[in-house]
Amino acid sequence: MPIIDLEGLSRYVDVPEPARLLLERPEKEVSLRLSVRTGADQLLITDCYVVFYNTARGAAKGGIRMAPHVSLEETGKLAELMVWKTALTHIPFGGGKSGIRLDPDELDPFEKAVVLKEYVHLLKEDLLAGNYIPAPDMGTGPREMAVIYGELHIPQAVTGKPLSVGGLPGREEATGRSVFTSARLAAEQVLEHPLKGLAVAIQGFGNVATHAALFLSEAGARVVAVSGRKGGLYNDRGLDVANTIETYFAQGKSFDGLDGDAVSNEELLTLPVDVLIPAARGGVITAENAPGLRARLIVEGANDPVTPGTDAILQEAGIADVPDVLANAGGVIASYVEWRNAKSGSFTSKEEVYEFIDQIIERSFQEVAATAEEKGVDWRTASHLLALEEVLTSMRERAWI
Ligand code: NAD
Repeated sequence: MPIIDLEGLSRYVDVPEPARLLLERPEKEVSLRLSVRTGADQLLITDCYVVFYNTARGAAKGGIRMAPHVSLEETGKLAELMVWKTALTHIPFGGGKSGIRLDPDELDPFEKAVVLKEYVHLLKEDLLAGNYIPAPDMGTGPREMAVIYGELHIPQAVTGKPLSVGGLPGREEATGRSVFTSARLAAEQVLEHPLKGLAVAIQGFGNVATHAALFLSEAGARVVAVSGRKGGLYNDRGLDVANTIETYFAQGKSFDGLDGDAVSNEELLTLPVDVLIPAARGGVITAENAPGLRARLIVEGANDPVTPGTDAILQEAGIADVPDVLANAGGVIASYVEWRNAKSGSFTSKEEVYEFIDQIIERSFQEVAATAEEKGVDWRTASHLLALEEVLTSMRERAWI
């Protein structure tokens, strides 16, 4: 079952039967058995999935997730999300994703590097041809992308590389940037309030969450709660974000000794705040906990954080929700700039990257808000509708349908 409701959307846009057949399943699914030796008597064997969901608008683009329970189904969902994210923001890529079934916390960087080398070995043809262009996702980062680059020596074959290895200034902050800009636009529109003074709770404290928190606090928002895998920190007076980041990572991902109260990941979601930003993992806002939410606005930093069927509860409760396909698109927008620079040999500053992300998010946000208003639907439906129209146009123009 695709993430987007093709049947529901066909009320607003004509979805011809061949398009429905092509979009209800991925174009290509690859299951690989990764087998690497990490020591004389240590053999690591695990599953890896690569999904090309749809490439009508360009090469399959999407990150590599390394997590202990990653599945083919989850990888497919994330690949599909990339199709709509790139289409909505008019970035010329299709949607793909990889999942490596390993706990990243149990591997040191050298073990991870060996795993990534084997991954490249098995996927070399698609990577060399530029059919699939990986990037980081949960459990992988710039260092792993540098390993991929080292195996291929083609700078545009992978994005999210470290700055010293052809990476893009601002790429690391990019997803947090689009979450921040989406929060600013939505707060102005829905709450009729600038970010300054608003209380924000952020679930997660990884790449997306920490950068979003920094941008928000710089803009004067009160970041009152953040959380790691084992729970978080809450202080209604607002956290000192920079100090919290420094201390948390310096003491091995712990909030111990910081000024605030312990809060669980579940409690964080129902704190009395203006803006709630899930930025850790998917499926955290459900039909069970949605009635308890007290935020007036949700901005989806994580992919797929709201379970199917929960949107109606949020809408009923008057909670506006900026969907993942819009709010966290900053990463792929910056990846596009990195890819373009790698092909052309040009250079872009961090400020230019922020400005480019802001421009695209602003344009897409206005398009989504106008469509939502015109059709009387929520922002997620409007986003899916606009993205679907883009993909259908490409499919028609390529004589796929
Ligand atoms: P990350 O690995 O840097 O951070 C993940 C955070 O989530 C960490 O704080 C971790 O402790 C927390 N976490 C992990 N498992 C958890 C669990 N079971 N319960 C509670 N917390 C948990 O990852 P990231 O890059 O910040 O990604 C976060 C989310 O944003 C993911 O859903 C990812 O798909 C999405 N996303 C990331 C990017 C990007 O550019 N990094 C782009 C788009 C979407």
